[in-house]
Amino acid sequence: MQQNSWDVIIAGGGSAGLSAALMLGRSRRRVLVVDEGRPRNRFAGHMHGVIGRDHTSPLDLLADARAELGRYDGVELREGRIAAASVIEDPEPDAAADRADRGIEIVLGDGTRHLARRLLVASGVRDELPAIAGLAEQWGRSAFICPYCDGWEHRDERIGVLATSAMNVHQAQLMRQLSPDVTFFGHGIELPGADRAGLAARGIRVEERAVVEVLADAEGRLTGIRLEDGTEVAIDALFVGPRQVPNDDLLRALGAERAVHPMGGEFVAVDPMGRTSVPGVWGAGNVTDPRSSVPFAMSAGNAAGAAINADLVAAEVAAAVAMASSAGRPGRRRGDGRGRTVNTQ
Ligand SMILES: Cc1cc2nc3c(=O)[nH]c(=O)nc-3n(C[C@H](O)[C@H](O)[C@H](O)COP(=O)(O)OP(=O)(O)OC[C@H]3O[C@@H](n4cnc5c(N)ncnc54)[C@H](O)[C@@H]3O)c2cc1C
Repeated sequence: MQQNSWDVIIAGGGSAGLSAALMLGRSRRRVLVVDEGRPRNRFAGHMHGVIGRDHTSPLDLLADARAELGRYDGVELREGRIAAASVIEDPEPDAAADRADRGIEIVLGDGTRHLARRLLVASGVRDELPAIAGLAEQWGRSAFICPYCDGWEHRDERIGVLATSAMNVHQAQLMRQLSPDVTFFGHGIELPGADRAGLAARGIRVEERAVVEVLADAEGRLTGIRLEDGTEVAIDALFVGPRQVPNDDLLRALGAERAVHPMGGEFVAVDPMGRTSVPGVWGAGNVTDPRSSVPFAMSAGNAAGAAINADLVAAEVAAAVAMASSAGRPGRRRGDGRGRTVNTQ
């Protein structure tokens, strides 16, 4: 087998990618995981809502997962970026084995080329924060996206919710479950009457003036919000709805179909096991699903890993049957029993 030839290549070594690698490694697959090392929650000191790992570092979880993968000799982890991917056209359209495994070529950032029978893209999203001075410095520290991930730590504190869309009303109502002191900073969005009524009924203040700055003390601790007219509102934590931009360049370049997600935004469409519209190409975790938490991403990666292995097994069965029926004919190709072809001439 060629050194740069793999059963599966995985783009992204976050919760989704490493879960998939674990399933595939345990199935004796040769797997290359390429990871740029920028998991979405890298800004957070602690991770929550993950059983067995509550209030632990998200980076420690990934380090432990990488160490666990060391038990599986078929799995290789590599730092870097997959810069391009393309489906290889079948050189012998009549050969059943080649049809089953026509393969995908990927190019790493350093120009190295690799071949894979299947590709899993688990490359996550980028969070684009509103352009407000001081906000990026608080991201993951005192400014968060998810009440379930970081709300409890700020129960009974003075909470701000900075709106980027009417969806943030839901965030504010979730935070009202945790604190009686919630201010909704509308920041120019139009609020439907029902939303406004719901906020008022639960004692959530609505601030209509635009936010111009997120304020911090000399140690960098969040202290409040400055409004357009200079008014300062003291808060202890801020919840924000950033624009989630999927890192799906590879999937787009391969022509994967996209769809509007029920939670908003356009994402590459996958079936419940992560299969995209492109044969041999899969997606898992945040890159295809804006709802993804760490357990969600793990679950999606786990499902995709198992489904990819099953897909390879199906291809191998088809190839083995084709080989068996043509066995003994001179000059034909012979399988190695795992669907790979060995040229006998
Ligand atoms: C501030 C913050 C706090 C959070 N806290 C929590 C929490 O407490 N609990 C919780 O459950 N969830 C939390 N989340 C959500 C959680 O981070 C995500 O749900 C989870 O990281 C998604 O996992 P993933 O594997 O899909 O993507 P990621 O974890 O983002 O991993 C994707 C990986 O792919 C890499 N990559 C991207 N493109 C390429 C490429 N072309 N080639 C190679 N590698 C590539 C990236 O660098 C990254 O390492 C938080 C999110 C944020 C923003």
